[in-house]
Amino acid sequence: DYKQGGYHRVLIGDTLQDGRYKIQLKLGWGHFSTVWLAYDSKLERHCAVKIVKSARRFTQGAKEEISLLEKIHSTNIDSPGYQHVAQLLDHFEHEGVNGTHVCMVFEVLGESLLSLIKRFKYRGIPTAMVKKVADQVLLGLDYLHRECGIIHTDLKPENVLVYVPNVETLLQDRFHIHGAETKPTSDEGDKTSTAATSEPSILEQVDTKGLTKNQKKKLKKKLKKKIQHRRKTESTGNRENKDGIVMSSVLDFTAGDQDVNAYENIVVKIADLGNACWMKDECNHLIQTREYRSPEVILGANWTEKADLWSLACMLFELMTGEFLFDPRPSSKYSKDDDHIAQMVELMGDTLPPRLKHDCEFSHEFFNKDGNMLHIKKLRYRNLHDVLEETYRGEDKLDLLTQFLTPMLQLDDEKRASAASIMNHPWLQD
Ligand code: ATP
Ligand code: MG
Ligand code: MG
Repeated sequence: DYKQGGYHRVLIGDTLQDGRYKIQLKLGWGHFSTVWLAYDSKLERHCAVKIVKSARRFTQGAKEEISLLEKIHSTNIDSPGYQHVAQLLDHFEHEGVNGTHVCMVFEVLGESLLSLIKRFKYRGIPTAMVKKVADQVLLGLDYLHRECGIIHTDLKPENVLVYVPNVETLLQDRFHIHGAETKPTSDEGDKTSTAATSEPSILEQVDTKGLTKNQKKKLKKKLKKKIQHRRKTESTGNRENKDGIVMSSVLDFTAGDQDVNAYENIVVKIADLGNACWMKDECNHLIQTREYRSPEVILGANWTEKADLWSLACMLFELMTGEFLFDPRPSSKYSKDDDHIAQMVELMGDTLPPRLKHDCEFSHEFFNKDGNMLHIKKLRYRNLHDVLEETYRGEDKLDLLTQFLTPMLQLDDEKRASAASIMNHPWLQD
């Protein structure tokens, strides 16, 4: 990918924008960009610089991302939701050997919620923390939707980043980075190396106290399968490498504090507006990452901002339990999309409105004229409360949680909750 039209090759110590930004560490990467910790010599503080691939389509996408981020910044910085969306600080273009790269400057944020899911070994993160995350992401979404007229379209744990309250101290303590200076450490090695460090594999960390030999074996087998599946579905930086080793951002906001109480100060921000779009545009193209994709998107309807609420519910379920809410698989008789729609109907009942069953671009691929599924005849209905009972290990009241998630999982997006309508739900305050 480091070729004409691709990523810009960055070396530690490089400067961008006439010497203003000095590159110090790699923070992450994605399909479209690499993201670096840099020192801003003008404002005398650190920042994150996203350097986008140089081919035309990436450059155009980046310019669209910038116009959305500028709208977010110029709309209402006093809105409580503004604080929960990653803010653009600056942008510019950089000429490199592979072409012209759009660069976006953000405040430095920490690890993603996916890295927290892993830290808690896919068994769910503490419920008090999930409530805080839910509350803040709802504020952020409400701001995007109602005030900015923006749909995120790719809400998932990887795209929600944890705010690091004292970045400068953390950088000094962990990396010996003081302002623009980096004190060489013995393991500096690879000059393009990332901020990611390897930790013991998840399998070594699993708490197996009190389990029988057989139970231990079963648990490890289950986790191994999960890790392998995850690796296939994950696309972006700072993930497990091929040995199943967790590569977690060292900008872990608790700075190594294993005490669960350290998580009570959690603040999160919605990041990666690279796929976001305007609510005023009429869209029916494929959006969202598979596990967080809504029924109307699969069926090819014109979707709205309600698609983000569907993704949010899927994400919150995953934070609570460590498991995907929907994890569709194809078979010889039906497609992955068939299985996905079937799983949704099994969970929420046969509640797809005729508009979605019959009138969308792909409706006829899933439903016959009687409104029954074409390729999957036998549906095994379950309900959200039971599914939560099976997968959730915490102490929270499941009735209230079910009551909170259900409006966001309405198959009919017109009946689905908006961020504003759900953000004062008693589950969040409980
Ligand atoms: P994608 O394939 O997800 O669309 P992308 O090329 O659009 O990727 P981002 O998702 O914006 O890039 O960023 C890639 C990664 O860089 C993130 O997953 C995260 O690990 C890291 N990152 C992004 N922004 C920041 C930030 N402000 N502070 C710290 N790390 C960041
Ligand atoms: Mg991303
Ligand atoms: Mg992106």
